[in-house]
Amino acid sequence: ARTPLLMGNWKMYKTVAEARAFAEELGQHSQALGTAVDYAICAPFTSLHVLRVMLPAQVKMGAQNVYPEKEGAFTGEISPLMLAEFGTQYVLAGHSERRTLFGESDQMVNHKVRAIVDAGMIPVLCVGENLSQKESGQTQAIVSGQVTQGIAGLSSDAVARAVIAYEPVWAIGSGKTATAEDAETVAREIRSVIAEHVDAAAANAVRILYGGSVKPDNIAGFIQQPNIDGALVGGASLKASSFVEMASAIG
Ligand code: 13P
Repeated sequence: ARTPLLMGNWKMYKTVAEARAFAEELGQHSQALGTAVDYAICAPFTSLHVLRVMLPAQVKMGAQNVYPEKEGAFTGEISPLMLAEFGTQYVLAGHSERRTLFGESDQMVNHKVRAIVDAGMIPVLCVGENLSQKESGQTQAIVSGQVTQGIAGLSSDAVARAVIAYEPVWAIGSGKTATAEDAETVAREIRSVIAEHVDAAAANAVRILYGGSVKPDNIAGFIQQPNIDGALVGGASLKASSFVEMASAIG
């Protein structure tokens, strides 16, 4: 059985002081966090330290980006080893904001995914179609392509431990969500693509999250789907009280 995962993506929000306040408040409600669920917050690099010190033990740290080289003259970048040594468990790769605002190609996303795995961390490969792709019936083709290119070169074991987040671009920050049924259809398709390109064990074990305007009042519909194992939450993960409400819904 796959362990459910509730993951927050803070994007470029929260100063260290704000991150500390969040961790304090979450700590006061840590009894609401179930033990059969994994929790993580993907925070800006500057807030990772305060989260490591202050988050309840059940809540793991994630980063939102990494540069896929061991070290070198890459001014402004952070290496996989730097994150792993720091205690980071998860790293996002291929978030739609990185693909569209920073020009990340599927090839760059794949380099990042492999570098994250090589450093012993868990990649969270983000995939999803934009509105015009959805309207022209390309959802399946786009998502399948992003998945196969994103995981290229990984072992079956690495894929089994990985996380894939299906985030339709048009649902991110828009207040619009995919229907739970449509998200389930895409998640099922992702598993069959992995079964075909990797193997059945990896397809069965990989965790698939839905992301895009997930809130305390709609999370249950997604996580009840058999092929959806949790959620990647932006805006609603910024308030500790909302995170706790979503934790209650998932646990
Ligand atoms: P929202 O939950 O704010 O729509 O963001 C989703 C997202 O992009 C998470 O990575």
